[in-house]
Amino acid sequence: MIQLVCSSPGCAGMPAVTVPADRSEVSVKCPSCAVVHRLSADVVGKLALMEELRSAICKARPILSDVCVGVSAGDRVIKIPYNLLVGRLPAEMAFAGSGLGRRFIFSDEDESPNLKRGGEKR
Ligand SMILES: [Zn+2]
Repeated sequence: MIQLVCSSPGCAGMPAVTVPADRSEVSVKCPSCAVVHRLSADVVGKLALMEELRSAICKARPILSDVCVGVSAGDRVIKIPYNLLVGRLPAEMAFAGSGLGRRFIFSDEDESPNLKRGGEKR
């Protein structure tokens, strides 16, 4: 599930975003303040790519503990298991510039996205 964090002042709404198969632009209406957010095809394409990445991570979950990323720290290389880096879903994606500072929350369907914002209620 993808939700847009509404950018209207004082609004805590998080309307759901559905990515169309053709990845064309979409309009999303906030259920709290009724502001319509228009998402460009560029932003929708990036959301689709993020969903593909999340899907690939889910498929690879059985081996994520067995694979490490080497991070250089001075003269040492620290190995960090992938599951620590990418296994903690949901994810958040933010766009600057043409995305006008929009933030999106990606979560599994059965998770409560409201809990991901510090437990605040809509
Ligand atoms: Zn709103």
